[in-house]
Amino acid sequence: MKRALIIGLGNIGAALVRLVAPLLRGDGDARAEIVLVDHDTYDPGNLASQLIDRDDVGRNKAVAQARRLRGAHPKLKVGTFPSRLEAVPLGVFASSDVVFTCLDSKAARVAANERVWRSGVKLWIDTGVSADGRLARVTVYRPGDDAPCHECGWGPADYAALDVNHPCGSLAAPSTGAPAALGCLAASLAALEFETDLRDGPAAASKEIIVSAAAHTHWVAVLRRDAKCRFDHRTLAAEAAGVNVRDVTLGDLWSRFGAGDAALRVEGGRWLTSLVCGSCRAVQPALAVRGRGLVETTFCTACGSGRLVPSGFHQRDAISRAEVSAVQLDLQLSRLGIRPREIVSFIRPDLTTRSLLLS
Ligand SMILES: [Zn+2]
Ligand SMILES: [Zn+2]
Repeated sequence: MKRALIIGLGNIGAALVRLVAPLLRGDGDARAEIVLVDHDTYDPGNLASQLIDRDDVGRNKAVAQARRLRGAHPKLKVGTFPSRLEAVPLGVFASSDVVFTCLDSKAARVAANERVWRSGVKLWIDTGVSADGRLARVTVYRPGDDAPCHECGWGPADYAALDVNHPCGSLAAPSTGAPAALGCLAASLAALEFETDLRDGPAAASKEIIVSAAAHTHWVAVLRRDAKCRFDHRTLAAEAAGVNVRDVTLGDLWSRFGAGDAALRVEGGRWLTSLVCGSCRAVQPALAVRGRGLVETTFCTACGSGRLVPSGFHQRDAISRAEVSAVQLDLQLSRLGIRPREIVSFIRPDLTTRSLLLS
């Protein structure tokens, strides 16, 4: 069975979907799956630079590409996340044979880097184009402790650029302005790397391939692991817990898998422990995973009219059992924003960790 995850469905991604789908079905396995991720919507301007039809305009990019894919390959399983990559459960990465990223910002690539390494995906193919130099780039990573990651070789200037470009934590970046043909070139190179991997097995090195359509030349660089890389390169070994997020309560999960002194982390996510009233600023207790589709619609009980919203001051990486109320322990995991294929970890005070893949 082959599963592909494609994140970003613009100039490169829209072309890549069409090239990868036939490769997945090539082995005749009806369980092959493709999962598409994009928070954005196609607008009329995209008709000039992306492989889409007028019919796609106004639709979410992941949903539009899934619709087309189902028409072309009725037996292929197609999943969608019309959201940012941060909202995709880590188990979706972990169950993929290949992750393709077609992103438009450094910050999004850093987020992808962390998730790809944590989940232990064997093959990550990152793509990019530069309209100015008519360049198409494909970078092939083979995640592991000793393997080079996206941040290996980054210096202070790269991290500074991360802050300057995205002062509000937004992952949005201006359009590349690249013609569709350049996106197709990058998509073709990426699909060919995956096809080679399927046919011949994994090649040894992580590498970057750049093709210049202006200078009619190409460059290949072998990437190296930087011992001083700021990223920890840690991979989680998650066991399948056989636990359905709709059936099991937080209290059940804690008694079955976590000791009383263990803290619980949702990998790739953060806990919200309180919500704040948007008008009177009163703080009210809550428990939810941020960005996992839970939208607070409840109103403030202090002023009666303000909406409760997340605040940066009430977010945590992990929560201890002592700070969870009896009512919250009785809630199903799905009520807390924990979704199917999420990976959660119980961390003991001595930092020994037990990671679980939920279903
Ligand atoms: Zn690194
Ligand atoms: Zn209020």
